[in-house]
Amino acid sequence: MGLRVAVIGGGPGGLYFAALAKQLDPGHDITVWERNAPDDTFGFGVVFSDETLGGIEHADPAIHDAMSREFARWDDIDVHYRGEVITSGGHGFAAMSRRRLLQILHERCAQLGVSVHFCAEAPPVEDLQATHDLVVGADGVNSRTRACHAATFQPSLDVRRCRFMWLGTDLVFDAFKFYVVPTPAGVMQIHGYPYDATGGTFIVEMHDEVWQRAGFAELSVETLGPGESDEASIRRIQGLFADVLGGHALHANNSRWSTFTTVRCERWRHGNVVLLGDAAHTAHFSIGSGTKLAMEDALALAACLHENAGVGPGLEAWSGSRTSGSTRTRRRGSSRSTSSRVAVG
Ligand SMILES: Cc1cc2nc3c(=O)[nH]c(=O)nc-3n(C[C@H](O)[C@H](O)[C@H](O)COP(=O)(O)OP(=O)(O)OC[C@H]3O[C@@H](n4cnc5c(N)ncnc54)[C@H](O)[C@@H]3O)c2cc1C
Repeated sequence: MGLRVAVIGGGPGGLYFAALAKQLDPGHDITVWERNAPDDTFGFGVVFSDETLGGIEHADPAIHDAMSREFARWDDIDVHYRGEVITSGGHGFAAMSRRRLLQILHERCAQLGVSVHFCAEAPPVEDLQATHDLVVGADGVNSRTRACHAATFQPSLDVRRCRFMWLGTDLVFDAFKFYVVPTPAGVMQIHGYPYDATGGTFIVEMHDEVWQRAGFAELSVETLGPGESDEASIRRIQGLFADVLGGHALHANNSRWSTFTTVRCERWRHGNVVLLGDAAHTAHFSIGSGTKLAMEDALALAACLHENAGVGPGLEAWSGSRTSGSTRTRRRGSSRSTSSRVAVG
């Protein structure tokens, strides 16, 4: 008999899990709650390594084929520093826009019969636990599911001191680009990579002290409304990095200064509740692996549920397989890392 499954959060992790679990066991009754509208997504491009794509292709060729049609592909990592370019080749990356990825996952969920409620806050975790066989907390870095059972999950949240802003540009980079730029205020860094034929991701990062000295503290507006961007800071960034941009525009989408929080949890399971993706762990954006890890968690969870009789044994197999995989990715600091340890048949 199929399981009744509640998924809190319709990001890449939650949607991919819902689609794979339903594809493997069409008898499951799966509902996803997503507080945003379908086309509300924030951010620009997401990156995958060749190795991750192998797992995604095997798990659901329909999703993989739709993603493949969107990919910008490249091999090199270029570090630009004081007029020199140091290139490391042969990596094998693919990227696409986050908005398109979510659209593909929405379409696949609809085809397979997953119920996705948009603009809908999920019911309280305790209520879902009582009414569902399995509750998947795929609710991102500020996960309420994690907070609700913090005594079991034992999260540690390490808020780092660098400031960054996630922007887009119509400059199509030909590699993973890291520009290390000395400025009068101190060193700033750009992370740039393409996501399709028309644009690239452009992340600006600097230490908090450099951010203060560069005057961003005075410029940035403390209270921006949902969806608003820090336009004054973006104008200054445009001027500071005019050489890198070479006349190309910067695009904003809910773009504002932020700090990175490293999330780790001792456990990812509390009874019939599990955490996946950013809710369970984060990987710094400089290694471009957050989406890949969320989708690999989803793939492994769907496979473990399918291959083990009952929710308990399925979750036991899953929590053992994932913790080591994601830790390895973060330690290696590379996006050329783990594929799921569980094959999907
Ligand atoms: C600057 C920056 C650059 C990045 N670059 C990359 C990159 O190049 N490659 C990469 O792979 N990753 C990148 N990431 C990370 C990536 O965005 C995340 O790791 C990834 O989105 C995690 O997926 P997720 O499904 O776990 O969570 P999310 O994508 O955060 O999705 C969680 C969803 O849950 C919803 N939600 C939360 N609570 C509730 C609730 N109570 N009810 C209903 N809905 C709820 C939210 O609205 C959200 O849509 C970057 C992140 C940042 C900040």
